[in-house]
Amino acid sequence: MAGEPQADCLFCKIVSGEVPATVVRETDTTVAFRDINPQAPTHVLVIPKVHYSDAASLAAAEPQVTADVLREAGGVAADEKLDETGYRVVFNTGSGAGQTVFHAHAHVLGGRGLNWPPG
Ligand code: 5GP
Repeated sequence: MAGEPQADCLFCKIVSGEVPATVVRETDTTVAFRDINPQAPTHVLVIPKVHYSDAASLAAAEPQVTADVLREAGGVAADEKLDETGYRVVFNTGSGAGQTVFHAHAHVLGGRGLNWPPG
């Protein structure tokens, strides 16, 4: 059922604790943890605890949780003191855009200069 944990989903397993992660923030609806393959000095993933395959499907079904994810992305940036230098929040959506884990997640990237447009 939409939103329910998926047995074969890596990020559902991080939510449940079955797969360990370096958690930096947690709320009733979200978990934020360090990316295992960081692309910047700060690279944290913020995920909803509910399972939706991407940000658009999460937003359609759970607008409040989507707002929670964005608020927590800002919280990560504040914790990591990225507010002054700037940071990027990215939702890769679809394999053509680089999405590899099909549980909605925001990448929070910062701590170095970030080029635009991204590759
Ligand atoms: P995507 O490519 O779907 O936008 O992002 C998935 C991210 O999850 C990648 O940046 C990847 O490095 C990260 N990742 C994949 N497996 C694990 C894992 O087991 N633990 C953590 N912390 N991050 C992971």
